[in-house]
Amino acid sequence: MKTHVEVAVIGGGVVGCSVLYHLTKLGCRDVVLIERSELTSGSTWHAAGGFHTLNADTNMAALQGYTIRLYKELEEISGQSCGLHHVGGLTLATTPERLDYLVSERAKHRYMGLDTEIVGPDEIRKLSPIINTDGVIGALYDPLDGHLDPSGTTHAYARAARLQGAEIYLRNKVLELIPQTDGSWEVVTEQGTIRAEHVVNAAGLWAREVGAMAGVFLPLHPMEHQYLVTEDIPEVYERAHELPHAMDPTGESYLRQEGRGLVIGIYEQACDPWAVDGTPWDFGHELLPDKLDRIAEPLEYAFMRYPCLATAGIKRVINGPFTFAPDGNPLVGPVPGLRNFWSACGVMAGFSQGGGVGLTLAEWLVEGEPSRDVFAMDVARFGSYCTRVYTREKVRENYQRRFAVSYPNEELPVGRPLNTTPAYPIWRDQNAVFGQGFGLEHVNYFAPEGQEPFEVPSFRRSNAFDTVGEECRAVRTAVGINEIHNFGKYLVSGPGAQAWLDRVMAGRLPKTGRISLSPMLSPKGKLIGDFTISKLGEGRFQVTASYAAQAYHMRWFEQHLPADGSVRIENVSLNRIGFQIAGPNSRELLSRATRADVSNSALPFMSLAEIEVGICDALVQRVTYTGDLGYEIYVPAAQQQALYEALIAAGEGLGLRPFGMRAMMSLRLEKSFGSWMNEFKPDYTPLETGLDRFISYNKDADFIGKAAALAEKASGTARRLCSFVVEASDADVWGYEPIWKDDTVVGFVTSGGFAHFVGKSVAFGFLPNELISEGQTVEIEILGARCPARLYSQPLFDPKAERMRG
Ligand SMILES: Cc1cc2nc3c(=O)[nH]c(=O)nc-3n(C[C@H](O)[C@H](O)[C@H](O)COP(=O)(O)OP(=O)(O)OC[C@H]3O[C@@H](n4cnc5c(N)ncnc54)[C@H](O)[C@@H]3O)c2cc1C
Repeated sequence: MKTHVEVAVIGGGVVGCSVLYHLTKLGCRDVVLIERSELTSGSTWHAAGGFHTLNADTNMAALQGYTIRLYKELEEISGQSCGLHHVGGLTLATTPERLDYLVSERAKHRYMGLDTEIVGPDEIRKLSPIINTDGVIGALYDPLDGHLDPSGTTHAYARAARLQGAEIYLRNKVLELIPQTDGSWEVVTEQGTIRAEHVVNAAGLWAREVGAMAGVFLPLHPMEHQYLVTEDIPEVYERAHELPHAMDPTGESYLRQEGRGLVIGIYEQACDPWAVDGTPWDFGHELLPDKLDRIAEPLEYAFMRYPCLATAGIKRVINGPFTFAPDGNPLVGPVPGLRNFWSACGVMAGFSQGGGVGLTLAEWLVEGEPSRDVFAMDVARFGSYCTRVYTREKVRENYQRRFAVSYPNEELPVGRPLNTTPAYPIWRDQNAVFGQGFGLEHVNYFAPEGQEPFEVPSFRRSNAFDTVGEECRAVRTAVGINEIHNFGKYLVSGPGAQAWLDRVMAGRLPKTGRISLSPMLSPKGKLIGDFTISKLGEGRFQVTASYAAQAYHMRWFEQHLPADGSVRIENVSLNRIGFQIAGPNSRELLSRATRADVSNSALPFMSLAEIEVGICDALVQRVTYTGDLGYEIYVPAAQQQALYEALIAAGEGLGLRPFGMRAMMSLRLEKSFGSWMNEFKPDYTPLETGLDRFISYNKDADFIGKAAALAEKASGTARRLCSFVVEASDADVWGYEPIWKDDTVVGFVTSGGFAHFVGKSVAFGFLPNELISEGQTVEIEILGARCPARLYSQPLFDPKAERMRG
């Protein structure tokens, strides 16, 4: 056994072996994998081996496509069969909402290079005659779907890795992980100690325990899962070709052919979290006891959907555990708070996702960053709010929703409210409809009096539509108030603060009392942040960005902090909160609540003042994401209620009305303001998105990503972000809809919606440069309908920004 290695991967399941293979593929040869028992000794050995590309997150779907296409290559390199059966798969729809979902997924697949199609009941019966299509209105057919041999595939990864120099140590449990001052780890195993520069936790069912060895809690939990293997069925074995897979979301089941019979697996509502107090170390090659009573009801339904099942004998019942994160996506990447400790766990679909997880982890570790945006599986998309109980409850919810339609406006109920601000009861008493992000409640909109505060999940315009419109109009014609807790806020201070920010941020830093906007770039010039920087004084800054990106941004900051202690960074997201007031009457309101001079000359656009508002010590910033005249007013959390009272009293007679996030996101549309994780994310660059105007290419500081940004500026880009007005009727874009020109898909949407004040359906999206011109007409596909759309380049509201600056 080696004693010093570059990377030690813990866990020889499909994920650990994929990570090992991909590390070698990217040229990292000094890598070892340490396995407690034999390869596949966790969840991997009892998997049903199915794979598919369908995933509500587009980048996850693309990585699933990568995984599936990889198997051929893997077989060739390793000489080991993966036992591939590319039989195709059908996902059935029995409701219009489900069909909407499948149609919108199909639309995304058009530019992802995935060749799916929507088929009707006749076609479904032709593809799989064992399906009873009663009540089925359509299906998504994916020719890439199929199944494989879990053990063969895991060994193929392992063999391919070994051929490239990796070593695998079996029957060797990792007992302890000891961090070293130089950032490396002592990996204490049964067979001795290895010093590893990097450690990858791919311990699957034991990932919680291995995380704990490093001192962290990883938000994942194992769930029990059952599938049945039937005896031979004539309707199956008498066919010339193997049957395609069938997913029946209404029946919560998936089904595929296994030899001369069938396999059917159920994601039942009456599900059980497994090993709540930790996965026993002696668990491995045994199965859990059958719990057929739990799946009796869905099985009954399956007998209706697949009549040949009803009379088939059951050969085997498999009940095994595997792990999930709270949202069902993997937990990948550098673990926040630790040095050189990586997560490749929480992978609930190892045979659809394992390749993508391995590739991502390897790119990140070897090349410094993944080649695409992987926030949907970044371990840093969760934060310390994920307690053990919260995690378990969300995992159960996710398991139960395995086949649920994911609506873009949906707010899931479990684990709420968790984090709230002092304003929460104030809003609740005003019939607020809450959403949740990164564990924190925020107001989406205020339901009219007498109505249940609930937004119906939908791909189309929801029951919130009219009310959100009223909130938008109140802001534009009088003044609106909402909370600004929904930003990640960081105080950066110390003698090195200015120089450090100048290196981390690509934009120009503001002077004292002023505010600037700045992209944050990765070394390859990708957008990894979209910040507002406020200079409070010498060596004292507040920087704000997306609330949901807190752990992601803090991880980056901590990775880049100077070792000399000259910079202090404090995440104050929950401590400094307050309200924004926006609209033509907002200055009058503020002036009534403070004795300070808040006139346009004293407090111009993009400036700040530390003043008293009401009885509170406040930081007032003359900036608002609504794009109107407006102010953000920050106070310590404990003073939020006092600030509210002061603002409400001052707003008397000014038409003050509270508004929520739905209205805010509508108002930003008519100003052509992009938003984080929609227009701005690591898939895109500053020049593509127009954020180049906030980059200070000439500043002295050698900011991270400068060389890449300059190179991009010199070479130009092939596509750019554009704004469109869409002729939409009852549904607006959400994101990733294809953009058509003359029967060819030429681009895709990043986000959009209905801009209520100007009364137009708006979409933002990428087009190739040669198609970009004012008034260019295209079609945007919304729920299967190609809607005419027109490109425009000036904001629809206040194009000269007179309101915002006036
Ligand atoms: C019943 C069932 C059906 C399934 N069907 C499918 C399916 O059809 N398609 C699909 O894609 N997925 C399916 N899955 C899920 C799939 O099995 C998992 O996604 C996958 O196996 C996860 O692999 P892993 O490598 O992350 O974890 P694991 O397979 O759990 O591997 C972790 C490995 O780490 C080792 N290890 C842990 N701790 C240590 C330590 N301290 N020292 C050394 N080694 C350690 C373990 O021994 C183990 O070998 C199914 C799962 C179950 C239970």
